[in-house]
Amino acid sequence: MRARHIYTLPRMPVISRFAPSPTGYLHLGHAYSAWMAWRRADVFRLRLEDIDRTRCRPEYYSAIEEDLHWLGLNWQGEVRVQSAHMADYAAALAKLQARGLLYPCFCTRADIARAATAPHGPEGIYPGICRHLSSTEQDARITSGTPYALRLNVAKAHAEAGVLRFFEENTGWTEAQPERLGDVVLARKDTPASYHLCVVHDDALQDITHVIRGEDLREATHIHVLLQNLLGLPTPIYAHHKLLRGADGKRLAKRDNSATLRALRAAGADAAVIFKSFGES
Ligand code: GLU
Repeated sequence: MRARHIYTLPRMPVISRFAPSPTGYLHLGHAYSAWMAWRRADVFRLRLEDIDRTRCRPEYYSAIEEDLHWLGLNWQGEVRVQSAHMADYAAALAKLQARGLLYPCFCTRADIARAATAPHGPEGIYPGICRHLSSTEQDARITSGTPYALRLNVAKAHAEAGVLRFFEENTGWTEAQPERLGDVVLARKDTPASYHLCVVHDDALQDITHVIRGEDLREATHIHVLLQNLLGLPTPIYAHHKLLRGADGKRLAKRDNSATLRALRAAGADAAVIFKSFGES
């Protein structure tokens, strides 16, 4: 009788990341999110999403690294600090612009709020006020110095990309419906990039195979999958975890100072006990 061999396929390494914004001290909710991504990782990466220069403070950059070290969540490779790479995002934006998928939006928050009360269009989504401006009108406003953002024409982009799917752990294959977020901003009035553009660019650059993050970003994933297609980038596997909530049932926010990792550390908390509580939550 011939010997039977059992072959095991090599498992692809899981490369995940934690990508906080240095706009405050990390709290328990961040620790949970970082731990969820770290515990699955063969390679764990850190990225600081700091393109919103008005909200970031120098002390939070080092505090993030210090707090993660205290938790024992160590990362590999260099920390990607987004503000140091604006040229990368400009190049990605230029690709989309060259394909005619972006349009300038001159709306103020007040314009959008007023239009959103109109009896048409889904709530909370940009109502498309500037989508149909003529190029003459666009040029006139730009020349007159009116500040503008660049929005993605999602219907046009989705039509060009065709049907898109992504794999979400616990849910399975999901068809991307980027229209759910509307014509998102890809370059802000004050910064020539946006969260959606940078996150997609950097997940690919950092070879992220598994994006493990809070369920508050599940809707954003639909746009990210579209952007990956448009920019010729791979789509990672996604997992969206539940958000940690305080005793009042509300999600933890940066303003809840008692739950910051610094405060917990100062009060003598033990990282192992914190992780144990996550495992039970
Ligand atoms: N920078 C985002 C945040 O702090 C996280 C982005 C992501 O995980 O995709 O909420």
